[in-house]
Amino acid sequence: MVISQLIRRAFRLRCPSCGEGPIFKRWWTYTEHRSCPSCGHLYDPRGESLAFMYLSTAFLTGLCFVVLITLPPRNLEAYRVGLVLGALALYGLTMPVRKALAISFNYFNSRRR
Ligand SMILES: [Zn+2]
Repeated sequence: MVISQLIRRAFRLRCPSCGEGPIFKRWWTYTEHRSCPSCGHLYDPRGESLAFMYLSTAFLTGLCFVVLITLPPRNLEAYRVGLVLGALALYGLTMPVRKALAISFNYFNSRRR
């Protein structure tokens, strides 16, 4: 299993094992399948994706701090509102892909044992 293939499957929100079954029933509500509808692979049996989700959220927060430091505000109130709304949109819109990446990396690690 090549890591680039796992990453491609994650970006398509597909099962890391077979590449066919969807990870989410509805990605816009983050409703996940417990296992792959196509091959039966359990996606997140012990909640291992939580650490990756936590770290990737922290990374995105770090990116927001870089924006905060490098782009000085012209209008402080609009800047604060924009930064908070932008950060929330960034977390929400990237959540399905980050979750799929977490499931793929977990699959990669479990295959190497
Ligand atoms: Zn599958």
